[in-house]
Amino acid sequence: MILNISSVLKVRIGMMMLLNIFAIQFAQVPENHTIPEVLQDEINVALSYYPDLKDAEIEFRFKSDIKKSTMQARPKFGSFFKSRKNRAYVVLISENFKISNREFKTIDMPRDVMIGWIGHELGHIMDYRNRSKSNLIKFGIKYLYFDNFIANAERRADSYAVASGMEEYILKAKEFILSNSDIDVKYLARIKKYYLSPEEILELVNEREAKEASAL
Ligand SMILES: [Zn+2]
Repeated sequence: MILNISSVLKVRIGMMMLLNIFAIQFAQVPENHTIPEVLQDEINVALSYYPDLKDAEIEFRFKSDIKKSTMQARPKFGSFFKSRKNRAYVVLISENFKISNREFKTIDMPRDVMIGWIGHELGHIMDYRNRSKSNLIKFGIKYLYFDNFIANAERRADSYAVASGMEEYILKAKEFILSNSDIDVKYLARIKKYYLSPEEILELVNEREAKEASAL
């Protein structure tokens, strides 16, 4: 009899623990964010820097191959004609990526590098959120055809990430790319053109801190 009670108790405790785990999972991942399990930690850390995106509908999805890039953020086509507030976004994550001809598996990326990378993509979403439908269409067309436009859009995404306080992660992602790109001069030139340099990031951090200090 005593044995029976204790086993009932054990089951009860086990169930309570399970419920707790569910509650924690549920609290961490709002329904409007769809996140692959393997990246839950990294994506949630990146999202925590963007309180403005808490209610935004964002799906993170693996894709076997994305042309030319590792990750790509864009509005979802199905939600395009909804109001700006109800627009949904998708962040496509390539399963593999190349840095100067060397193949990497995305899930093998160091944690902080991954967080930085996702932080950059969320920067793009912040940028899209400020755009009207017609502006987004123009944005898409220019992004396809104009090199300088791409550079501006990428640098803007980096700037949003730094403004949100993610500079450490952005710098780590950059370091990772640069330290793995051998001496591929062309690739390095491309990175320099399209993304913020460490010096520019520091400058933005200084600006942000000055603004924060003056607001106090
Ligand atoms: Zn980008």
